[in-house]
Amino acid sequence: MKTILITGGSGFIGTNLIRRLLEYKNKIICVDNNYTGKLENINPFLSNENFKFIDHDISQPFEINEKIDEIYNLACPASPVYYQKRPLFTLNTSVLGIINILKLAKKHNAKLLHASTSEIYGNPLEHPQKESYWGNVNTIGLRSCYDEGKRVAETYCYEYQKKFNLDVRMIRIFNTYGPHMNPEDGRVISNFIIQALKDKPITVYGDGKQTRSFQYVDDLIEGMLKYMKIDKDELKNKLKDKFNWDTIPVLNMGNPEEFTILKLAYKILELIPKSKSKIVFKPLPKDDPVRRRPDITMAKEVLGWEPKVKLEEGLKRTIEYFRDIV
Ligand code: UDP
Repeated sequence: MKTILITGGSGFIGTNLIRRLLEYKNKIICVDNNYTGKLENINPFLSNENFKFIDHDISQPFEINEKIDEIYNLACPASPVYYQKRPLFTLNTSVLGIINILKLAKKHNAKLLHASTSEIYGNPLEHPQKESYWGNVNTIGLRSCYDEGKRVAETYCYEYQKKFNLDVRMIRIFNTYGPHMNPEDGRVISNFIIQALKDKPITVYGDGKQTRSFQYVDDLIEGMLKYMKIDKDELKNKLKDKFNWDTIPVLNMGNPEEFTILKLAYKILELIPKSKSKIVFKPLPKDDPVRRRPDITMAKEVLGWEPKVKLEEGLKRTIEYFRDIV
């Protein structure tokens, strides 16, 4: 039985991850301050003796008394709506947060999986985005608090890895959706589904021709578990042989199927045929990336991982979740 610390555990991805890890009979310590996470998400776990919740903001130092084997660092507001409301808090969660987590990982000699983001590519000039692409990011814009914080966090992980030989794995998560998304998050899939279920206008920002690639959360969890599991030497050898790559990369995790936002709106309306909603166009937020699609060759070759859930299937499951809660 492993003891696993999950920061951001009451959020969307954390909740889905915890459920899986508890099924495998691990002991879970969930740390969250519930800024975007929700206690309702983790309530079902509270009766499990292998689950413990600590209400804490990871930008403040903290100690865990029992020995931790693994850490998943998922804590950070990830939706533009929430991170733009509290930009300094967001920046601190990424930067001060990762410092605290790395210190903890070092102390416990724990393996760490750090969740980075496709946002570190900014408004990408290379398409699709490979791990080797450095990105095109505004340092002083609306998204900077999230993008730049996540970029620094990657660098901290990289330097700790080198200096202390810490076992750190990092992933860049592309747009992900599924049950336990925060309904107030303002993300495109949750917004469109809730609007369609409530017969409200479907708010397409801009002309809707911008693209995103949507990954169902179960696929992401599978990828995270695989990346955590692979032996470090096997990982290094595969990276060297197949990609002539010398460091531990920040693996892209996303679904490479790309859709325009307008097409997504039509798809959701098709899946909720009773909806009376109509599409309306609203101004495009500033610095909204035009295209986004992961190149997942590396994760495929190294982990044997690729997403399996098609958009339509994932949307159906997500619609059922929201039907119950809105
Ligand atoms: N979007 C939209 N209507 C909404 C919410 C979002 O058209 O009600 C657009 C948004 O402008 C962006 C895309 O959908 O181009 C994805 O937005 P989201 O906030 O889900 O994620 P991110 O921009 O971080 O990829």
